[in-house]
Amino acid sequence: MLNSILLILISLISFFNGTAKANTIAQNFSSTSLQTPLKEVALTFDDGPYGTSTEEVLNILKTENIHATFFLIGKNVDEYPKIAKEIVDEGNIVGNHTYSHLKTFNKMSANDFAKDLIRDEISIASSTGVVPKLFRPPYGNISNTMKSELKKEGYTLVLWSVDGKDWSLNKTANQIEDGTVSKTKPYSILLMHDGHETNNYPRVNSIEALPKIIEDLKNKGYTFVTVDKLLETQAYLSGKLGRI
Ligand SMILES: [Zn+2]
Repeated sequence: MLNSILLILISLISFFNGTAKANTIAQNFSSTSLQTPLKEVALTFDDGPYGTSTEEVLNILKTENIHATFFLIGKNVDEYPKIAKEIVDEGNIVGNHTYSHLKTFNKMSANDFAKDLIRDEISIASSTGVVPKLFRPPYGNISNTMKSELKKEGYTLVLWSVDGKDWSLNKTANQIEDGTVSKTKPYSILLMHDGHETNNYPRVNSIEALPKIIEDLKNKGYTFVTVDKLLETQAYLSGKLGRI
């Protein structure tokens, strides 16, 4: 039992490495080792905004009275600026997912990566009025060069801890639901998708699974927060519109 608690503690600390939340979690476990952590989780959606798919996700979140974090692709923001703004206006958080969503940012020079990062930042800021400071790398591909650019630009790197594989066209809504709910723990960051970098890619199965995932987790006592709250960090550059 103690070994498993220590294992959970170590993995949580390494996941939230260096954050205030890691200290809070460590204190929770060390002061009273059996104290139950808060059952907070964060739902995240990548690759939007994406037309009706994003609208449908927003409607579900509104009906369920919860908020999520959307990592936006700049070229989609330029195509759907009103939907990007709607995401923010409805109380959700937006983050940077690069302008062109390439697989190869982790092999690029600092300068080439930074150009794409800033291009997305400008698209998001122009459409929504907020300057994102949360970043998720496309496909989770991250390099030390990217990390130092992100630090220079004031970004917090956000990966995920639960992947229900809704990106796969082979997964049914039930498989996405099971794959997500069965792996969720307190402080999990759940990966889902409302969009894609190409056209004609409906998120039918994700959208069918989403209300079930939310209901299952609510029934298990989970509450939903945005990533900035979960990690106790800033979602946006405050007070000004940066480069805009
Ligand atoms: Zn992506």
